[in-house]
Amino acid sequence: MAQDQAKQPATPSRLVVKNIGLMLSGDIGKPVLDADTIVVENGRITGVGKSKELDVSNATLAIDANGTAVAPGFIDSHVHPVAGDWTPRQNQLGWIDSCLHGGVTTMVSAGEVHTPGRPKDIVGLKAMAVFAQRTFAAFRPGGVKVLAGAPVLEHGMTESDFKELAEAGVSLLGEIGLGSVKDGATAQQMVGWARKHGIQSTIHTGGPSIPGSSLIDKDVVLAADADIIGHINGGHTALPDDQIVTLCEKSPRALELVHNGNERAALLTIRMARELNCMDRIILGTDCPAGSGVQPLGIARMISMLSSLGDVAAETAICFATGNTARKRGLDCGIIEAGRAANFVFLDKAQHSSGKHLLDSIQKGDLPGIGMVVIDGVVSAQRSRNTPPATNIPEIVTVR
Ligand SMILES: [Zn+2]
Repeated sequence: MAQDQAKQPATPSRLVVKNIGLMLSGDIGKPVLDADTIVVENGRITGVGKSKELDVSNATLAIDANGTAVAPGFIDSHVHPVAGDWTPRQNQLGWIDSCLHGGVTTMVSAGEVHTPGRPKDIVGLKAMAVFAQRTFAAFRPGGVKVLAGAPVLEHGMTESDFKELAEAGVSLLGEIGLGSVKDGATAQQMVGWARKHGIQSTIHTGGPSIPGSSLIDKDVVLAADADIIGHINGGHTALPDDQIVTLCEKSPRALELVHNGNERAALLTIRMARELNCMDRIILGTDCPAGSGVQPLGIARMISMLSSLGDVAAETAICFATGNTARKRGLDCGIIEAGRAANFVFLDKAQHSSGKHLLDSIQKGDLPGIGMVVIDGVVSAQRSRNTPPATNIPEIVTVR
């Protein structure tokens, strides 16, 4: 913890971002704002608008966006962290920092399931959840906020276990179906206990991901009624189309699409959400680290894939990875509005994209270039080392 804090600059008290060429709000109700300036105090947005309408004086940090676009930092709704910036799944270091360079500022754990020797007894699984919550709350790899401590349900858990977990600071469940609870009735009871105590739930959907996980079909998903239909496009193996359609129609819960899933099933889900007029239910994750590895650009790739092949306006696809997820998960980020955490990603058309401008380039299937990432009002990365180079990039003009 001490080491991490030493690496991070102190939060500037007043950040002003000017000359924003395109303000992407993250709010699917109004994805583009007529604004060119953001003011941030102590890591929180205090003003969004035209520079002449805002008090832009006394900045301790000023950023000239140079006409680039600003969007809320991307939220990865589905990751499997273990400890710090190490994953044993592909035995890789620095994967979270690499995702920061893909515009991700917040990650939500769907279970620390790759922990070598993961305990499956109830005392052990509770201890591991509290450990993960505490360690990631105190250590932000690269500055990325990792919401972790997501226990996997096992038979024998009682309501008092959920109460104890909640009191200890655990606010998430790992994917239901990755432990011994795989039947609708038990899952429903435990989701109810979790919800009663303020713990959010996600269910694995589709075929087994790796040896040891299991099939969870539509009947179990509907019975469990978890808050998030985790990877409705499979992770990787998707349910048959008719079951995906049924979940879209019969459940009101969030429809999570992941990078490490079935892309055709993701496009089917988008078509259903459009038909049912519930695009606000679409949220994005990578489901990494996984057998498919780690995808530092996974969220950006999902945005471009869904926009280009799913015929979704780029500014709307960006909402899937920002405001939609923040609302479905009750996060204080994901939308550019006063009071929210100042997490931003600066985007521009990648160099030599055939798109006419940033949004057109995404709709043509190209990745955006990332020029800077800000978390809680602090610059966490400048020109991304991972995206294709952005045509224009922002610059820091004042530091006091
Ligand atoms: Zn899964």
